[in-house]
Amino acid sequence: MTTFKSLKSWVSIPTNSDFSIHNLPYGVFSTSNGSKRVGVAIGTEILDLNECQKLGLLNISELKKGIFDNDKLNNFMALAPTVWSRTRSIIQEILTAGHEAENHRDKILVPQSSAQMHMPFEVGDYTDFYSSIEHATNVGKMFRDPENALLPNWKHLPVGYHGRSSSIIIDGTPIHRPKGQQLPKGESQPIFGPCRLMDFELEMAFVVGKNTEIGESISTKQAEDAIFGMVLFNDWSARDIQKWEYVPLGPFLGKSFASTLSPWVVTMEALKPFKVKGPKQEPSVLEYLKYEGDHNYDINLLVGIQPKDGEESIICQSNYKYMYWNMVQQLAHHTINGCNVRTGDLMASGTISGKTEDSFGSMLELSWAGSKEVQLKNNETRKFIKDYDTVTIRGFAEKDGVRVGFGQASGQVLPAKD
Ligand code: CA
Repeated sequence: MTTFKSLKSWVSIPTNSDFSIHNLPYGVFSTSNGSKRVGVAIGTEILDLNECQKLGLLNISELKKGIFDNDKLNNFMALAPTVWSRTRSIIQEILTAGHEAENHRDKILVPQSSAQMHMPFEVGDYTDFYSSIEHATNVGKMFRDPENALLPNWKHLPVGYHGRSSSIIIDGTPIHRPKGQQLPKGESQPIFGPCRLMDFELEMAFVVGKNTEIGESISTKQAEDAIFGMVLFNDWSARDIQKWEYVPLGPFLGKSFASTLSPWVVTMEALKPFKVKGPKQEPSVLEYLKYEGDHNYDINLLVGIQPKDGEESIICQSNYKYMYWNMVQQLAHHTINGCNVRTGDLMASGTISGKTEDSFGSMLELSWAGSKEVQLKNNETRKFIKDYDTVTIRGFAEKDGVRVGFGQASGQVLPAKD
């Protein structure tokens, strides 16, 4: 039995495209002769939703005139999930073979190659969780006690910290190697300089599509309706800065210099067919963290490093389904104290590592804290990220020949600024 209805689009979609007619992710784009506006990726094209609305192809009363003539998705994300869903089905109809929209193709389609992508939404608050048991165990083994790698709270609550939203940047934006304090091995006094242990973290993030009042909590049952969609996320990390500063309050300047996200927001509705059962949570969790149904997702994740002069090497293959704590638990935990959330708040998963060594989601784990080399195709090796390396995260779900992909979150590391 197949999960998908058979749909053919009048837009030609290359085999293995991330942007099939079953995906329809939202993004904000501009062209050389137009302002920023909202579109949907389809194959190698973008469907311009502002043009569609102007032509009367998107008639939904809740979609105010000009809602897509906007440099952010926030106004659309703040609408009810029933509106998200109706908009999605109309867009799917518009793109299905035989629809009159094809007559307007010159107006409503923009090649992705001639468009520039922008931050898809205004990020409100940004939180980073630490929800992969494999990642938390690896880090605990390296830095604390191999026998008691997980701290006592880890299996009882989704550990997280408040990050910095001002430095969240979009795919393709280069970053400078951060500078900061470090305590070199064996030394008693810190030094200042460019980070020597530059790292990425393979993560995904979800964006909230709801405003709550202060004092209000979102239960695991309500959480699904409060999540608009997901993106790929690289939580760039300066390990030496992080190691020296993180006690006792957690990550600070070792993380806040930049985080990269992918430009297309894949909706939870598009991801529904890829739901899978999560790992067994033992010991059993407190009542407010219990949930019904499946909330893990089978999403293949890859990380590539491309050196300055050489081809890209895939150094990590992981999967979002390995997550111990799922999104509805993360959101329920985040709000259980009455902390309000706002449309555009971004919540990242934490590094997503699997059980095998090739599925570890950071250089810290792949090189086991710098104790071994990661081999690249051009005979170079890496323990951490070098200047001019480009790190690219990709992700896609695939089932019954249908692919729902995320595109990429990529960024090049430039030398530290003088
Ligand atoms: Ca992280």
